Amino acid sequence: MVIGLTGGIASGKSTVSSILKKLGAYIIDVDKVGRDVVEKGEKAYNEIVCFFGKKILQHDDQINRKVLGNIVFSDSKQLQKLNSITHPHIIERVKEIISKCKTDGKNVIVVDAAILIEMGLHSLCDTVWLISVDKETQLKRLMERDNYTYEEAMNRIMAQTSDKKKSVYADVVIDNTGTLEELENKVLELWNKI
Ligand code: ADP
Repeated sequence: MVIGLTGGIASGKSTVSSILKKLGAYIIDVDKVGRDVVEKGEKAYNEIVCFFGKKILQHDDQINRKVLGNIVFSDSKQLQKLNSITHPHIIERVKEIISKCKTDGKNVIVVDAAILIEMGLHSLCDTVWLISVDKETQLKRLMERDNYTYEEAMNRIMAQTSDKKKSVYADVVIDNTGTLEELENKVLELWNKI
């Protein structure tokens, strides 16, 4: 069984993933896959440096994600370009990991991705769980977790597709505006159903 786990930035995907991991699921962190495919020497790296220029590189020639993030999250055209470079590499890598998990006999595989639906990764999943949180809570949690200013946090939230659009593809919507304990109970209930 492949569960697609999605939701906006700081909605609680990593938190739900770690609960599911404790329950025995195998987690594919698509953010991590995204970081892996832009490592120096990987295919997407050269394409990105070619397009955005050497100003996005750190001293060790790795891509400085904060600098690149500030460019793309304030300009949707640049974000589109970055996505068109990285997404095919990420999708290919996720497919490889799912197929290896199945060969290894893993029963529950979770694909954790903020842009699961936008990337079409939901088509690889048997069910889609959307984590939803009200904007005020989302802003507060994002600013606290990543030490962003109000404006930085808002730019990142506004660059994402709304929950309303994503909910069309969701089999389950998990509201995470409440406490961690409430979230754990909701996830456990869903786990018991599968
Ligand atoms: P995502 O992976 O979707 O970006 P996280 O799981 O990292 O989101 O959650 C964002 C932040 O909010 C983290 O610091 C996390 O510890 C916190 N958090 C998540 N759910 C809750 C909750 N129900 N109550 C309080 N804090 C929460």
